[in-house]
Amino acid sequence: MEKIYDVIIIGAGPAGLTAGLYAARDKMSTLVLEKEKPGGQIATTDEVANYPGSIENATGPSLVSRMVDQCKEFGAEIEKDNIKEVQLEEKIKVLIGEKETYKAKSVVIATGATPRKLGAPGEKELTGKGVSYCATCDADFFTDLEVFVIGGGDSAVEEAIHLSKFARKVTIVHRREELKAAKSIQEKAFKNEKIGFIWNSSVKEIKGDGMVEGMVLENLQTGELTEFEADDEDGTFGIFIFVGYLPQTGLFKDKLNLSKAGYILTDDNMHTDLSGVLAAGDVREKSLRQVATAVGDGAIAAIQAEKYIDHAFEE
Ligand code: NAP
Repeated sequence: MEKIYDVIIIGAGPAGLTAGLYAARDKMSTLVLEKEKPGGQIATTDEVANYPGSIENATGPSLVSRMVDQCKEFGAEIEKDNIKEVQLEEKIKVLIGEKETYKAKSVVIATGATPRKLGAPGEKELTGKGVSYCATCDADFFTDLEVFVIGGGDSAVEEAIHLSKFARKVTIVHRREELKAAKSIQEKAFKNEKIGFIWNSSVKEIKGDGMVEGMVLENLQTGELTEFEADDEDGTFGIFIFVGYLPQTGLFKDKLNLSKAGYILTDDNMHTDLSGVLAAGDVREKSLRQVATAVGDGAIAAIQAEKYIDHAFEE
């Protein structure tokens, strides 16, 4: 007979892995499905300074690998599959993946969010060829080269600081006159001699034949266009884009209540508007998206799933 899990968790970032750990520890049959590598955004973060108990030099990937081990230790299964369709209305939920079809009494959605793109000409073609959305993954390629960081939030400024350990020079390009990042992060960047700033500007075009060779910026106040070209000796430079994230909720449009920005609306106990369907972490409409809040969501979602099952599947 086909297996019906107590809980299936979609997404293996901090929220999903915590839900997996709590569910499995409570002896529920638990499956965590992830379409890529476990970890979500945190796996692409070099420093996790504000997660309680983080030790110096603890990286995102090291934290994730401990979370994965702990989740498995309690008996959760973690599988790689890309869910293409969900049927969530009935008592038994059905998830159709590229590899298999899965069934569960409850589902926790922890699909997180992905980097927002600029939509500038050349961005797509040159992604992975100088354009990057992950400093931890790609900083090393730009050792002693020049890089530009686009954005003004916590991610942009933190990653610019990380990139300054590799690159010869880092320039933050922001569309406003002041940064949005937390003051403590801003101070670090302003003190960093390798980091410079271009204000009130956005990327008009990224140029290059096979790799980034140039970039056109537009001054949003004057309309003036400025073209940057790679040094002859370098031949290229890096463009790291950190302009926010988009919720991964495409599967749930027209199925669940979403906010205007596309995040899943839940109550304080992570329940969505469908019975037995919960959401946790960055995919949820909430005021603060951090590892610390994601793991809290994951723990609550798992315990609530158990309560739901006890009630809904009472003999
Ligand atoms: P964010 O806070 O949404 O900031 C996005 C930045 O990109 C803003 O400065 C925004 O400009 C700019 N932007 C948006 N669209 C743009 C476009 N099309 N072209 C140019 N610039 C554009 O995103 P985030 O920095 O990735 O942070 C996401 C969440 O994670 C936040 O809640 C943040 O606090 C959290 N986070 C926390 C930490 C930490 O605490 N250590 C680290 C990383 C992330 P405007 O200012 O004009 O809107």
